[in-house]
Order: sequence, then structure tokens, then C-alpha cells
Amino acid sequence: MADKITVTSPLLPNIDDFYALLKQVWDSKWITNNGSFHKQLEQELAAYLKVPYVSLFTNGTLPLITALQALHISGEVITTPYSFVATTHALWWNGIKPVFVDIDPATGNIDPNRIEEAITSKTSAIMPVHVYGKPCNTKRIQEIADKYSLRVIYDAAHAFGVEVNGKSILNAGDLSTLSFHATKVYNTIEGGAMIMHDEQTKKRIDYLKNFGFANETTVVGPGINSKVDEVRAAYGLLNLRQVDAAIEARHQVAITYREALRSVKGITFFDDMPGVKHNYSYFPIFVNAEEYGLTRDELYFKMKEQNVLGRRYFYPLISTFSTYRGLESSRPANLPNAHKMADSVICLPMHHSLLKEDIERVVECIYQ
Ligand SMILES: *Cc1c(COP(=O)(O)O)cnc(C)c1O
Repeated sequence: MADKITVTSPLLPNIDDFYALLKQVWDSKWITNNGSFHKQLEQELAAYLKVPYVSLFTNGTLPLITALQALHISGEVITTPYSFVATTHALWWNGIKPVFVDIDPATGNIDPNRIEEAITSKTSAIMPVHVYGKPCNTKRIQEIADKYSLRVIYDAAHAFGVEVNGKSILNAGDLSTLSFHATKVYNTIEGGAMIMHDEQTKKRIDYLKNFGFANETTVVGPGINSKVDEVRAAYGLLNLRQVDAAIEARHQVAITYREALRSVKGITFFDDMPGVKHNYSYFPIFVNAEEYGLTRDELYFKMKEQNVLGRRYFYPLISTFSTYRGLESSRPANLPNAHKMADSVICLPMHHSLLKEDIERVVECIYQ
């Protein structure tokens, strides 16, 4: 059996460089609670991402939960079913009712034209996702938010470094959150961040991720613990130095996949969007069973047999999980485009260390 080709592979720092930074952590004996590597990583990330402020978190789920807390969001929040389940879980953990809106098949993102009809007197925010790192229509979403006085929190877990016309997508809305999980384009093993626009919000978020402590004796609110330790911050600093090269390697993989697959009947994929700097975090293909001759699952399992491990991101839809399927907005008739995408998608192996022969093997599975 040929070697496994995995859908993702973590970007790892050079281990000797990592040892050298660990030695500094050991010598300083300051291992967590806003240490010097933590501060440095927040600053370097803000510069890299072209955003004013970054607050590190221990994963990508806690900043979502904390963002909703910080903005006092309650009642109903409009969101997308076509995402990783953490997006909706963050609402549930805040006692908020998710209201699912269908996606735009051209992007996989929430369809702005369907948002207004989902707004009720209880709606307090919109939580879109830049799925696969493809930018949402942030302008249109902001217009709707302004019209109805709603907050906008972007789950930007896939959108590390994504820019539109030279500007970071992470500056859209009230707050954006990132995940630095091992499977993402940029990782700190486990980790995440929140992006905010002003110093006061940064301060408040930093309190909230440290139990609400503003100083030794003042607790300003019911905070959580989401502090990042110096070991992960050091790892993150090293990975930041190689993330551009990793994204460029992913770009080359995307180019190769597109060239190889463009002529395959019944297989479609996204092209780059004009003016957008992509991060190539995923390479989803969509299987039209009638034209292609195999269903999505038939192709998925055929690939698996040959040790080529794609992933059916995002199948099943969040709205079909037991926690959420009883909601009025979860009815399949409300979400036809999301169901269609979830039933046809396979994310092909996509990471910085894919070899030419790996890509050829993936493509061979799809040719038939
Ligand atoms: C990965 C991911 C998360 C959760 O991030 P973790 O770091 O795994 O907690 C949230 N939303 C989306 C869209 C994701 O892909």
C-alpha cells in the first residue's frame, strides 16, 4: 500500500531554533501570563496581519465565546450552517439561539441577500465565517448590520493573512477571531486570537481572557482563562517566520490541482477572487455525481482506499447535528445551497509539504 497522503500536515518550526527559545524561557522562569514572547508574538502578528491589535487565545473557540461575551450579545444571532461546528457551539455556550441563513453557492459564505429576512426583534448580531479563507461580502454585511443596529463578529479561523485590495479582511466587523490549531495555515499547536480595532477593546478582552482581572484586586467581569504560555508563543514566533513560504507552497499546490482538474467533467473548484490575497488554506472540490459518474462519497472512499485522505469539510452541516436540528432555521428547505455544497464537497490534501508526486497521486484518484 502506498504511503498515506494526509489532508493536512502541521507547519513545524526548526527544532533547534525552538530549543534555543525554550532555553530562554527556562532561564527566565517566566512560563505564562503575558510573558515576553507572548507580547512579542501579539505585536508581530498585528504587523504581519496588518491589524491594529491582536489578543492571543489558547484556541480558536474561546475567542468566539469571549467576543460574544464582550459585546453582550444575546437573543438570536444570524450565522451560517456551513462551517466547523465550533462557530455555532460558541453561540450555544452563551445561551444564544443560532439562526441559520443559507450560503451563496459562488463562495460558500453566508448569502447577504438572505440575512434581512432572518432578522427579528431578538436579533443582536451576525456571525459570518470566511469559509476556506474566501472573504465574505463584508461591505454588504456591514450595511445590513448598520441598518438594523447589529454587531458583526467574523469567525475568521480560515482567513489568516487574507487581504482584499491590500487590506486585511480581519479588520471587518466589530471583532474577528482566528484559530491557530495544528491543522490551520499558521499554528501554535493549539491556539487562536481575537482581532480588535481599538486599545480600549484590547484591554477589555485581555481582562476577559484572564478571569476578568484588571489588576491584582479588581475583577471587571466574569472572565475565562485563555492565556497563552511562553512555550507556544515561542513556537508561534518561529512559525510566523516561515508562514509566507508555506502559503506560497500551498499556492503552487493550488495551481497544480487547478491545471490538472480543470478538464475533468463533473468536478468544479474555486478560482482566485480578483483583488484578493488568498492563503490557500483548503482546496475544496465539488462532485456533480451525474456528470462525473461517481457520487461524492464514492470518490471519497475510493481515494481513501488508495490512502489519499481528503476530508468532507463541511459535512454534515452544523444544522443537522442533534443540538441544532430542531431549530426552525435548520429545516433543509431553508438551506438548499448549504446542503448541496455539504453533499458534494471533498477537501483535497493541501499543505506546504506536499510533493509533486503526492499531488499526482491525488489527481490520479480523481481521473477515471
Ligand atoms: C478550526 C476552527 C475553529 C475552532 O478553532 P480551534 O482552534 O480548533 O478551537 C472555529 N471555527 C472554524 C471555522 C474553524 O475552522
